[in-house]
Amino acid sequence: MILEELRTHVLQTAMLLPKYNLVWMAGGTVCARDPQTGYVVVTPSGLDYESLNPDDMTVTDMDMNLIEGRFRPSVALNLWTGFMRARPELNAVVHTHSPYATAFSVVYEQIPVITETMADWFGQPVKVTRYLSVEDPEFSTLPVEVMGDGYAVLLGNHGPITVGKTLEHALERAVTLEEAARTYSIARTISTPVSVTEKQARASFDYYHNRYGQKKP
Ligand SMILES: [Zn+2]
Repeated sequence: MILEELRTHVLQTAMLLPKYNLVWMAGGTVCARDPQTGYVVVTPSGLDYESLNPDDMTVTDMDMNLIEGRFRPSVALNLWTGFMRARPELNAVVHTHSPYATAFSVVYEQIPVITETMADWFGQPVKVTRYLSVEDPEFSTLPVEVMGDGYAVLLGNHGPITVGKTLEHALERAVTLEEAARTYSIARTISTPVSVTEKQARASFDYYHNRYGQKKP
């Protein structure tokens, strides 16, 4: 079995999604690229993570050719690898159906930078794509375009995608985005929320990623 360590890491990350209430049952996807081989490890679709082992992960190349694994890669793999093709520094993608972030995808409203933590991890608002079925010709390209140089995008009427250099960073962004969306929803019931300005968000992101502490996402 090749890439055993990365397969294990992908599965462990996937198993954290239900624990953080980001997906239920077999929802969501975790995908990571091995920088050495360029191969991609992805969770099989439609199966409960609790029932899976590392050898159930699917290994493909960046063109979706199956390298190793008993399950066929999902059609959505072209989208997950699309982020990595467009942004070679990215090695991990996490897709969830977390309820508050998904709610914004349903009303087609972007999530502004409303907390310091969101500024640290995203540095900019998180935008929404139009509704895309997997058969849509733009399914694997539009979300990449809408995300641009950001670190998350909401698929319209579907849910969030977060990305990172590592699985830890993509997962932390999935959790942070859901928390920010929840806080924003609560704040709107109290009064009118005030967003972090674009300049403040960029400065906070730059400080966190380039000068602060041990974390260098
Ligand atoms: Zn989904």
